[in-house]
Amino acid sequence: MTHSDLNYFKKQLLEKKTELIDVVHKTESYGREMDSEAEAMDMADRASKSYAKEFMFSLSNLERQMIILVEEALDRIQEGSYGVCSHCGETVGRRRLEAVPWALLCVQCQELKESGRLA
Ligand SMILES: [Zn+2]
Repeated sequence: MTHSDLNYFKKQLLEKKTELIDVVHKTESYGREMDSEAEAMDMADRASKSYAKEFMFSLSNLERQMIILVEEALDRIQEGSYGVCSHCGETVGRRRLEAVPWALLCVQCQELKESGRLA
């Protein structure tokens, strides 16, 4: 992978990270708003709100995990191991990296993993 390729993917990853952090912050402030609203509501309303809140928090956890993946990809760019499949050591295809810049596995290994055949 050339230097300009790496810069390109680094930029993609940084943009994605900013976007994710933004979502997490919004989710957190939404959760807090719902907390203060909940105090003024009766039980039934409170139950449905708390369900919505759980959903928002699980969403925010998902975003958090994504941030970790993106950060790990940025580390790999630093270390020079970016774009190499962590399982088989083959190059991860450029097309795959374009779609999923934080991909750890090549397409073949990812398929094996999804079908449960990768340890
Ligand atoms: Zn692989």
